[in-house]
Amino acid sequence: MLPLLISLAAVFLAAIAWLHFYTTRLHSRQLSTLASMTCPYCGHPFGQTTAIASRDRFLAQCNETRLRLPNCKINFARIWPVHCPSCSAPYEFHLDTLQLRSPRPQSSSAV
Ligand SMILES: [Zn+2]
Repeated sequence: MLPLLISLAAVFLAAIAWLHFYTTRLHSRQLSTLASMTCPYCGHPFGQTTAIASRDRFLAQCNETRLRLPNCKINFARIWPVHCPSCSAPYEFHLDTLQLRSPRPQSSSAV
């Protein structure tokens, strides 16, 4: 019985280590992809500082919403808001596709 428990514990720890490695690598790839992109409007590179600021802004918005609505289960859109450091043009970085897009037009009735 003891060898079976040790084997199960080893498999469990290996799965945890793999999950940690996978998520760390995924987050690093998301940051480096955005950092290597250039602004479609002015051609200025976004850079690592802008990528980190975009990710931090997204996480802060998620935390603020969770604190404001503690009883709601929220499925956040996996989109980082990005502003060009040179011309301030707004964009959205989609984490699932690793693509930069212009923001969706705002509804006029949402005023
Ligand atoms: Zn720009």
